[in-house]
Amino acid sequence: MGLTADMKEYAVQIGLDEIKITTADPFPQLERLLNNLKEREYLSSFVKDDLKLITSPKEVLDGARSVIVVAMAYSIKEPMIDDNQDYKTGLRGKIARFAWGKDYHQVLGEKLEQLIEFLQQETGQQIEAVKFSDTGPTVDRALARRAGIGWQGKNCNIIHPQYGSWIFLGGFITDLELEIDSPIEGKCGDCRKCIEACPTGALEDDYLLNSNQCLGYITLSKGYIDHKYRRKMGTRLWGCDTCQEVCPHNQEVATGDHVEFKSQGLASRPAVTPLLKLTDESYQQQFGQTAMNWRGKRPIQRNAAIILGNLKDERAIFHLQDGLSDPKPVVRAHSAWALAEIGAVRVSKDLRQALEVEVDQQVKDELKLALEKLNKK
Ligand code: SF4
Ligand code: SF4
Repeated sequence: MGLTADMKEYAVQIGLDEIKITTADPFPQLERLLNNLKEREYLSSFVKDDLKLITSPKEVLDGARSVIVVAMAYSIKEPMIDDNQDYKTGLRGKIARFAWGKDYHQVLGEKLEQLIEFLQQETGQQIEAVKFSDTGPTVDRALARRAGIGWQGKNCNIIHPQYGSWIFLGGFITDLELEIDSPIEGKCGDCRKCIEACPTGALEDDYLLNSNQCLGYITLSKGYIDHKYRRKMGTRLWGCDTCQEVCPHNQEVATGDHVEFKSQGLASRPAVTPLLKLTDESYQQQFGQTAMNWRGKRPIQRNAAIILGNLKDERAIFHLQDGLSDPKPVVRAHSAWALAEIGAVRVSKDLRQALEVEVDQQVKDELKLALEKLNKK
């Protein structure tokens, strides 16, 4: 067998579910599209500023000849979580599947290292390689599409023929010359289920995503969440799977069944009241190994408050009253909002007391809004 075939066989042995190769050619059309999206403020802050760089593998690695793209499936044999009753009775929130198990950057990163070592051993030479897995310097999805890992769905995800879009992508740009694979044909056809199901309208049209309206991004962002998205978050604690859950190509998929991506018990739908009071220690204990380990605890606490407001369950009142005196303004503000959403008029007294001692203007505004809302009851 040749080097490319040997590498692909080795990739399967080390637990990668798919491996394809594309050229190091640039993506000029995509660069234009990204520039357009940037002007319209549709790009999230996670997209690197230098659009020329991220769309040109040869700018990333001088002398690049090919790009190896790999995928690991993160679908596992667990029931789909769509039982609203479960969220209601347990005051639970929902974590998107990508964050259920061990941090995929780490899992994929280790496998990519193994692949690079394999190539060095096989060729007997030091190869140049620049890795990527979500946080890297390039456009993972465009490379995956051109390499034929899957086709691009109207929800902008890459859909693998066997594993659906429940896949992590990664790879590396290299100076090695390898056999190139071909893209595969899209299968969305007339379907628009993802666009119709998107709770915020972030999927504006086929293949057009406004990331700044996407709950997958908003729930991970820092700071205050705009009022217009709070109810739409529902019980989403981290990420949003809706446009993937409704996709017909994601229903009867093969599971990678990688133990690394399994959630422990109910960890994928944690009880949210304890999350309001996360400490550094409990945050590390609960989320330290997962893909939720990079943002710190504040967004989780804020999202927990919003979920409690959306669940509208009086059992949460006591916890949210405590939230009004949290040291972090963002937690105090969102706790005030959640208390007003639950709508028990008796908490007006707590909100007024909090307003008397509050020093942060944005929190004061939220407290006033919450009081106004309760006064209308
Ligand atoms: Fe819409 Fe959620 Fe998909 Fe974002 S992740 S586009 S909010 S359905
Ligand atoms: Fe394509 Fe339909 Fe899946 Fe959206 S839901 S990605 S339109 S097949």
